[in-house]
Formats: sequence, structure tokens, C-alpha cells
Amino acid sequence: MAGGEKKIRSDNLKAVVRYIFAKAGSLPRECDLLADHLIEANLKGHDSHGIGMIPAYIAALKVDELKLNASPRLISETGSTLVLDGGLGLGQSIAHDAMAMGIERAKAYGSSIVALHNSHHIGRIGHWAEQCAAAGFVSIHFVNVIAEPVVAPFGGTVARVVTNPISIGIPREGHAAVIVDFATSRLAHGKIRVAYNKGITVPEGTLIDAAGHPTNDPAALFSDPRGAILPFGEHKGWTLAFACEALAGALTGGEAIKGVVTRKAIVNNMLSILIAPNRIGTAPTYFRELEEMITWVQSPAPGADPTVLLPGDPERKTRTERLRDGIPVDPATWAQILSAAGEIGVTSSSLEAAAGL
Ligand code: NAD
Repeated sequence: MAGGEKKIRSDNLKAVVRYIFAKAGSLPRECDLLADHLIEANLKGHDSHGIGMIPAYIAALKVDELKLNASPRLISETGSTLVLDGGLGLGQSIAHDAMAMGIERAKAYGSSIVALHNSHHIGRIGHWAEQCAAAGFVSIHFVNVIAEPVVAPFGGTVARVVTNPISIGIPREGHAAVIVDFATSRLAHGKIRVAYNKGITVPEGTLIDAAGHPTNDPAALFSDPRGAILPFGEHKGWTLAFACEALAGALTGGEAIKGVVTRKAIVNNMLSILIAPNRIGTAPTYFRELEEMITWVQSPAPGADPTVLLPGDPERKTRTERLRDGIPVDPATWAQILSAAGEIGVTSSSLEAAAGL
């Protein structure tokens, strides 16, 4: 174990999540959806969206900016399009239910659009693409984030937006779905928190400090005044971050970012588009062209090993390793979880026991 890092089995970590949120007041279904989501994020290597989010959720809960056991409320529907209000409910159950509603509509119409606004943090967006892919749907998800701005627009030197993620789920025949899923910033905010907790630097070109100068010290994002994360791909990442504000923030009937945010809640708005290849008549072409293209792009240069991965491959590899070896949890993250859980009356000893430590 490196530097006091613990390796905890995924089932035990799920038990930790369930224990904390049952104590907070979540019903068993919500505890299960949350535990499955957070631990899947950890298993897939996205620790930024795993158990490390628990302290932020408890902070929002304590000031009543996160509602437990809520359901999405139907605001309007026009055939295949649903507008839903998440009511600041726990995002892992709100988005699950919203996607289930979208899947039902897409089964009926061949495609659907779900405009979900005002949910609390919906975690790893690839999770929702996976839910749609498991039901046979191609899906596209644009998300904006209403929280303290941490990302500078291309050309800017101060934070104006958050990490606005995008995900695309591409089901295949006979293979796991391809899952495109990333923040439009160079690094997800939570990954900078993880680096800060671990006391390590972030790659060059990720951050600027409060004076607008490049830095690889994650502390720049936790100081006052604060620095900012840069968009990925220079102007290209910024254009997608902007599209997330327009599509997920404004078009869903939610909120686009427009100033300093002081509340504890991390609000997500998401525009999801679901398409059933077999319902729009293109399934034979879709599956054939997809497989032939994948064979082509992955064909190695003569004499070389195949090195081209598909989106979703790195996560599957990490998942296999972490299911076998356990999920690494650094001491700072674990201490933050114990401290936050303590604030709602959960003892450290009970969590250590649930974690099998
Ligand atoms: P990332 O930079 O690790 O990129 C992940 C994507 O790139 C995945 O699709 C992955 O399969 C693919 N990928 C990685 N290496 C690859 C390779 N060698 N070949 C082919 N594909 C490869 O992700 P990120 O930007 O750090 O985002 C992490 C997570 O944070 C995502 O799950 C995202 O949804 C989530 N997020 C959520 C919010 C929110 O507000 N809810 C905000 C930002 C990010």
C-alpha cells in the first residue's frame, strides 16, 4: 500500500456508501443506486466521481440543498421529448429514473430527447450512456454544471464555467458498448482534488494560477484567490463547454452559468438524445459499418502490436484490475469521508467495519 493508501474491496465500499446514506435518510433503492454508481466510477478508474464525492453530498444535504428520495417531475412532454425537473434530488437516482423514462419513450417512438434540469450532481456521465446502451440505444449527453466556476474559457484568465462533460454511448453487437465520456476541461475537477489530496502535481498545461500563469500545482485550485483549469484542446474544448451551457443549461429549461455560485449544491442539467438503430431502419448498416471501421482503425502497422484503444477500453481494463485487487483509497480522501459521515452521526468505527478494515 503506497503512502498509507488502502485497497478496499468494491463490495465493502458499496456497504460504506449504503451505510452512510441510509443513516442520512435515503431509502434502500436510493442507497443501492448511489452505491452502484459511485463504486462503478471508482472501479473504472474515475476516482474523481467515486466515494470522494460523499463529503460534497453531505455538505449539500446539511444545508438542505440536496433532497433525498426525490423523483424527476414531468414538466412537459411532446411525444418523444420529455422535460423533467430533478428538484435537486440525489443525481444518481434522478438521472437513473430520467434515463429509464427516456428509454421507454425511445422504445415507443424510435428516439427520444430527455431534457433534465435542476438535478443534484449526476456523477459519471458515461454511467447514463451505459444505461441507454444496455437497452440497445445510441445516446448523446450534454451536461452543464452550476457550481463555483473552476474552468477558464479559451482566451480568458479567470474561471467562468465548470467542467461541463459530454458522453456518447455506442452499442455494438457481440461486444461491450463504446463509451465516450469526458469533461471539457483538461482534467476533471475531482481529479485535481484527488491530486491535491495525494500531494502530487498535475500535468503541464492543465492549470493557471490566480495571476493567470501556468502551474502544475493542484493547490492553485484550492487557494484564495483561486486559479483555473484550462479547457481541453484549446478553443475546441471551450466550444464544446459553451455548447453544454446552451443545450444542457438553457435548452432544458434549467440554468446556464452566469456568475459566482456560493451554494453548496452541485447542480447538473443534462440534455440526452436516445436513438434506436433498429427502429429507424439503419441497424444493419450501423452494426456492419461500425465493426468494419473498428477493425480498420485497430489494424496494426505491419509487424507492430495493436495499440489503438476504443473509448471505454481503459475503464474496462481498470475495472478488471480493481475488482481483483481492490479500490485504492488515499488517506486524505478516507479521512474526509469519515469526517463528513461523522457530521451526520456515523461513527468512524462503524465505517471501518463496513469497509472491512
Ligand atoms: P478522461 O480524460 O479520463 O477521458 C475519458 C474518456 O476518454 C473515456 O471515454 C475513455 O474511455 C477515453 N479514453 C481514455 N484513454 C483512451 C485511449 N488511450 N484511447 C481511447 N479512448 C481513451 O475523463 P475526464 O475528462 O477526466 O472525466 C472523468 C469523468 O468525470 C467522466 O466520467 C465525466 O463524465 C465526469 N464528469 C462529471 C461531471 C459532472 O458534473 N457530473 C463534470 C465533469 C466530469
